[in-house]
Amino acid sequence: MPVRFISTRSSGHRTVLFSEALRQGLAPDGGLYVPTLVPALPRGWESTGSFRELADRIVSQWLEGDLPREAVQAAVASALDFPLSLVPLSGEWEGVHVLELFHGPTLSFKDFGARTMARLLAVARSAGAEAARQELLTVLVATSGDTGSAVADGFSGLPGFRVILLYPEGQVSPVQERQLVVRRPGVKALKVRGAFDDCQRMVKAAFADPELSAIPLSSANSINIGRLLPQMLYYAWAVAQVGGKPRICVPSGNLGNLTAAVLGRAAGVPAAGFLAAHNANRFFPDYLDGQETGFSPSVATLSNAMDVGAPSNFERLEWLLGKARLRELVEGEVVSDQETLASMRRVYLETGYVADPHTAVGLEGVRRRRSRWDGEPIVVASTAHPAKFPEAVEAALGFCPEEPDSLERLIDQPTRVDGIDAHPVALREFLLSE
Ligand SMILES: *Cc1c(COP(=O)(O)O)cnc(C)c1O
Repeated sequence: MPVRFISTRSSGHRTVLFSEALRQGLAPDGGLYVPTLVPALPRGWESTGSFRELADRIVSQWLEGDLPREAVQAAVASALDFPLSLVPLSGEWEGVHVLELFHGPTLSFKDFGARTMARLLAVARSAGAEAARQELLTVLVATSGDTGSAVADGFSGLPGFRVILLYPEGQVSPVQERQLVVRRPGVKALKVRGAFDDCQRMVKAAFADPELSAIPLSSANSINIGRLLPQMLYYAWAVAQVGGKPRICVPSGNLGNLTAAVLGRAAGVPAAGFLAAHNANRFFPDYLDGQETGFSPSVATLSNAMDVGAPSNFERLEWLLGKARLRELVEGEVVSDQETLASMRRVYLETGYVADPHTAVGLEGVRRRRSRWDGEPIVVASTAHPAKFPEAVEAALGFCPEEPDSLERLIDQPTRVDGIDAHPVALREFLLSE
């Protein structure tokens, strides 16, 4: 039986299949899609050899009876064709395992979700009606960092899609910009003369614009269930490797990655509890502590991919667990920029491990909490490659991290980017003129 999905805001019983939730992104009532029932992990999942084999088994299980199995298999294999690893730390950090999720083409964990989502969307289109197969789908993404390049890379070269990336001029790091503007087939980057919020506003306006109703639009942000499912896979894999009932620490922003971990637990991945490690954007840790101050505007920090004032997956998490259970199962920590740099330094001096600022927020959370736990193994999601943040690494450690080949190669590659005013009409004109 295929898994069915329901909107977090639905009062009725209308459910959709994965392929439908994937195409829609947000549910028509403005809610987020959640599974009505989480299937138990396939038998023998703990001893399934490779990550790819495990991924294939779990995804096939979720999509069985929805999309053709062989096409799904091929999509997953092509999406997840890069390594992941689990690095045990030593000395005082014994028992802590860093789950490196940044070995994909754009060097952040977002490659797992974005690449899988793109390929499954392509499968859903070719399995759909003739009309759907013919149309060109325009994927709009507003990005302040890692999402844009992961999505662009994920869709690049897939027939039937074009990607329009919007990013705020002067507000992404030089490495991030290099990854955004590199020329990719079917991808156009737009440098918006404004802030990230303007980019997001422009994308939202395009969806509501009657003059664009003839252009099929889709979005690829982290509310799409197609990004969460693949993120659940690596938690299952990591816990199978580590054994026991670990604590899982997730450096968080929009809370998509944490939601995926919670879904994994619902499917039967043993976990003693979760730690949501945040930077100064502290809505969620405060909520876990019982202070319901509400969302607030985002604050800029060194771990910029986590600069989120209103986490989009919060609604999903609360729906899945309920407030009381959420507060039982998940702890929160807030780590300042100063503490992030100190964490990078401490972990390097004590273990030789070079962590990026996002991962360092997670490691600092673990260091503070650990004495209160019961000695379970600990898995910390490492969300980005340190070479994506050379300025922070140099400030903390006094040297620049080594660039992986994929990043070095970008230096000489042709770029493609247009400037655009921070106004919905400018985006409309661009979309109509292309
Ligand atoms: C997106 C991102 C995060 C935050 O993940 P969420 O799913 O939004 O909570 C953390 N670290 C890095 C490097 C990211 O790119």
